[in-house]
Amino acid sequence: MATVTEQDVLEALAEVTDPDRRLDVVSLGMIEGVQVKDGHVAFAIQVPPEEGPAKEPVRKACEEAVYGVPGVLSVTAVLTAHHPAAQPVPAAAPPRDTSNTVAKPGIPGVKSIVAVASGKGGVGKSTVAVNLALGLATEGMRVGILDCDIYGPSIPRMMGIGGRPVSPDGKRLMPMANHGLVCMSMGFLVEEDTPMIWRGPMVMSALEQLMRDVEWGTLDVMVCDLPPGTGDAQLTMAQRVPLTGAVIVSTPQDVALADARKAYAMFEKVDVPVFGFIENMSYFQCPHCGDRTEIFGHGGARREAERLGVDFLGEIPLVPQIRETSDSGTPVIAVDPSGTEATIFEDIAGRVAVRIEQALATAEASAPRIVIQ
Ligand code: ADP
Repeated sequence: MATVTEQDVLEALAEVTDPDRRLDVVSLGMIEGVQVKDGHVAFAIQVPPEEGPAKEPVRKACEEAVYGVPGVLSVTAVLTAHHPAAQPVPAAAPPRDTSNTVAKPGIPGVKSIVAVASGKGGVGKSTVAVNLALGLATEGMRVGILDCDIYGPSIPRMMGIGGRPVSPDGKRLMPMANHGLVCMSMGFLVEEDTPMIWRGPMVMSALEQLMRDVEWGTLDVMVCDLPPGTGDAQLTMAQRVPLTGAVIVSTPQDVALADARKAYAMFEKVDVPVFGFIENMSYFQCPHCGDRTEIFGHGGARREAERLGVDFLGEIPLVPQIRETSDSGTPVIAVDPSGTEATIFEDIAGRVAVRIEQALATAEASAPRIVIQ
């Protein structure tokens, strides 16, 4: 793969013109603190404070120009404006280490965003995402679900939603809704069997549209069902989506836990707080005789959480009712909110709700006194 240099980045940016000044952004001295590391690029675009939000198209054009450089895997471009009472704006942070402290534009009206992640597929991440979202709604929160799994979206099926979203103005989409939640997924926009052969930057721009070009309304929390794994697409998302925190779903056995550790390390790297681990398929509870069998072992995720010093948020049994309800579009909390399984998910949601509040309070307390768009 081509090695990207700062010079390559500046050359690409020299092609971007600021329409107000009719000169390119490099000649205008607007680009600051270019950082390049292993194909991940970050830089800041200096703008006058009063022009901040209006310069978003320039920011987007800069990002697109840099994405065009061969070898670039991710681009983090932020608009910065020196606030009169603020410390000088530091150079853009190194892309991998502190990208979450570089302000990422939030989604208007959305108070918090929680990622549900797993190191590998098939551990029940989407099942947990849907039931966690419903559990947060039972806490009185307004909740949306964003299906970030562009390649294999399963939220439409699990939420029991078909059809296509409408766009009253031809620009922004209305989210779909069921069980009291709003949601958006690539699955609503493409035929189920369409193979999605997209490179990382295309995935990111599709995701940006699903996040930002949708009328989400006012949400207390948006639950993001991330694709499984810790590849470049996931890392880019963890860097680019303004996440309040993440939960990691794992099954109890070693092999799944090794992948969960990787997911944990990925969030650590981009400075996203990990709210905790959830052990799914923790044990099998026979619906007939009530006997308990620990099919994949038991307690591995709790031990791993303890070892890493993160919270253990709860364990979910392997129960036919969970599979039947999630695969038929009527999640267990929606059909039987006071049942045993629903209560387990609601308890987990309660713990996550507390962590969201804590993370928002911490973020507010440490908000930089710099105007960053
Ligand atoms: P992932 O998102 O990790 O790929 P899914 O949520 O799609 O996993 O779950 C994979 C399959 O396992 C689905 O058929 C789902 O219904 C089932 N499943 C998930 N969790 C449980 C559980 N606790 N008990 C029974 N079946 C489950």
